[in-house]
Amino acid sequence: MSELNLILTGPPGAGKGTQAQRLVQHCGIPQISTGDMLRAAVASGSKLGEQAKGILAAGDLVPDGVVIELVRERLAQEDARAGFILDGFPRTAAQADALDGLLASGGRAPLRVICLEVPEEELVRRILSRGEGREDDSEHTVRNRLGVYIRDTKPMLDHYGEAVLRLSGLGTIDEIEARILEALGLS
Ligand code: AMP
Repeated sequence: MSELNLILTGPPGAGKGTQAQRLVQHCGIPQISTGDMLRAAVASGSKLGEQAKGILAAGDLVPDGVVIELVRERLAQEDARAGFILDGFPRTAAQADALDGLLASGGRAPLRVICLEVPEEELVRRILSRGEGREDDSEHTVRNRLGVYIRDTKPMLDHYGEAVLRLSGLGTIDEIEARILEALGLS
């Protein structure tokens, strides 16, 4: 299979993490989730975790420089050479610019971008009922995360222009996976 360098984006609750895990199974390339990396840092009590803790709890964005460095280190690891699924990164135009810089020197296949689209009320319903015990899943924080998505992450998509494949994130997990694989020409 040719190298797949995928950005899986969309609002909180769109199903990015679930679908990224499906793609890991299907394609054998790693999921790189900045949210998971940051939660792990918070759980470990590291300096980065201490810095990020309050920001995650509020549903705001961690500074660009911090996440860019996390992704830079992760992409340099051996298992990301054959491709990767970025889940939750980039989330700002500055992060998208930085990602271009990180990939420019590597002779890598072009980025593919999938945005999963789900209406706002369905997102709130899903997140409040998903019961993962995430500290940032309260209604107030979810509304803030949606606001941050609309303000910072939606404009980030302009960076990729026509290359963004917008797919419906409604339906069963299997249906959405099939939609993604078809859009990527992998089914
Ligand atoms: P997620 O699991 O992708 O929903 O991310 C959970 C939280 O981690 C977000 O609400 C942000 O506080 C933080 N985070 C994750 N990815 C990023 C990113 N690319 N830039 C800034 N903050 C991020």
